[in-house]
Amino acid sequence: MNIDQLLKSKIRDIPDFPKPGIIFKDITPILQDPQVFKKVVDAFAERYSGKKVDVFVGIESRGFIFGAPLAYELGASFVPVRKVGKLPYKTVQESYDLEYGSATVEMHVDAVHKGQRVVVIDDLLATGGTANATCRLLEKQGAHVLECAFVVELGFLEGRKKLPGRDIFSLVRY
Ligand code: AMP
Repeated sequence: MNIDQLLKSKIRDIPDFPKPGIIFKDITPILQDPQVFKKVVDAFAERYSGKKVDVFVGIESRGFIFGAPLAYELGASFVPVRKVGKLPYKTVQESYDLEYGSATVEMHVDAVHKGQRVVVIDDLLATGGTANATCRLLEKQGAHVLECAFVVELGFLEGRKKLPGRDIFSLVRY
């Protein structure tokens, strides 16, 4: 089985979660299988090995699950980007539009340094709003965003269009 088939066999569709009409892609079965979890982290590690990545930035919360072992494996730093109000120290923020209303992501003001080479990690690319706001936040602090990486990409939502000119990588697409 190739990685696409393997991951698809482990991703569970949950209809109408968290709202009616949304099909939630549940990645927890990947984490339950140590060999598959390792394959995911190894696939990212292989891609970014030798690319001189200083920081892996995980987006709350499932981005932490994949970003932290990757940072450990490649000897890079890990930075969490969180929903507003969760981080204890001084933060910088970036807001983005949702279908109804808006949302804000934040990170510690000293989380990245000017010129650092960073890769953004999340479990899933949907509309791209969260990843785009995260990239803007990092660039505001002077970091250089090399790529945004996802386990799953919902291609039909065209999230890449919200990330024009950015390099996007995903392991499995729907
Ligand atoms: P977006 O900003 O629309 O790209 O949404 C991305 C964030 O929302 C990621 O952190 C995902 O984990 C989560 N998300 C959005 N849609 C789904 C979905 N259908 N299944 C699982 N997670 C989702």
